[in-house]
Amino acid sequence: MGEFELIRQYFMPLARLHGPHSVVVGPGDDCAVQRVPSGFDLVFSIDTLVEGVHFPRNYRPDYLAWRTLAVAASDLAAMGAEPTCFTLALTLPEVNEPWLWDFAGGLGKAAESFGLVLAGGDTTRGPLTLSVQVHGLVEQGSAICRSGAKPGDLVVVSGTLGDAGAALDYLLPDGSLEAGSYIEPRHPLTDEQYVLERYHHPRPRLKLGEALRHLATAAIDVSDGLLADLNHILEASSVGASVERAHIPVSPALARLKGSAATDYALHSGDDYELCATLAEATWANAPPSLKQQFTVIGVVESTPGLRLDGTTVMSGSDAVGFDHFRGKA
Ligand code: ADP
Ligand code: MG
Repeated sequence: MGEFELIRQYFMPLARLHGPHSVVVGPGDDCAVQRVPSGFDLVFSIDTLVEGVHFPRNYRPDYLAWRTLAVAASDLAAMGAEPTCFTLALTLPEVNEPWLWDFAGGLGKAAESFGLVLAGGDTTRGPLTLSVQVHGLVEQGSAICRSGAKPGDLVVVSGTLGDAGAALDYLLPDGSLEAGSYIEPRHPLTDEQYVLERYHHPRPRLKLGEALRHLATAAIDVSDGLLADLNHILEASSVGASVERAHIPVSPALARLKGSAATDYALHSGDDYELCATLAEATWANAPPSLKQQFTVIGVVESTPGLRLDGTTVMSGSDAVGFDHFRGKA
């Protein structure tokens, strides 16, 4: 099977239109063409995942496709952008049709779920590597940046944190990622299956990101760990913050699995792709209850630089201080 046959068979079908969207020329030409409505800004981001570095060797191709697109789409959520389309640069060691079939299947499910249409890409031979560029739209000037947090703003996070980080314990018996521990999500899930599912199938908070537009002063998606990612907001905004450990939201499953260590997972491990945002207190007070119930207030932005946890400085400048860096083990 040649390169063009491969693209035609496995990737062109993903470009089929599901509903109205802004891609006016899709895969098959020299470039894709996206129409940007007047009054909107195009928001875009690229992510690359390398086998053995960003995902385990022999990782299931359908899960890989989902995770890759989810991680990319999560950056759109953090900016408050509405997803439109994506391009995929795929480097494959060989043409393995069963692998491609499963990969394209997972990619199609994720694309549909996130509202992203495949607009084009590139296909090459080499060590398994995926690059995804995602595009989204916001009304002009309304993208949520990391730099807008102000002293007095509340710090909020969506959902629960630490689940995907705890999942690594079940994937990492000897310190290396391996392909085991797959689950076919069937309900009810055990606690271990629940956290594994959070790792395998992250759900970027796209709707919440869009809802935060015009409300949040700053936002970021939690990919590296709450403290590290919140610190990126503080640095970009030239402010500090105080956060309460007791307010960090953890899932019942994580609490049962890890007991009092659950909050450490929530503070230090990434991969959940929840949102962390800052909002003026009055904005929060007047926000729709349906939005507020998706978030937890964990702290407050202050003019004094640094990030304080229960009064103790844990991040200062771009460095963590006073911590043993958490490595995913309780
Ligand atoms: P060119 O040589 O002009 O750069 P390519 O041969 O790289 O074009 O690609 C031919 C067409 O196939 C382009 O429209 C490109 O967007 C599309 N394409 C290539 N690889 C993929 C892929 N993995 N997924 C979707 N479209 C792809
Ligand atoms: Mg060309």
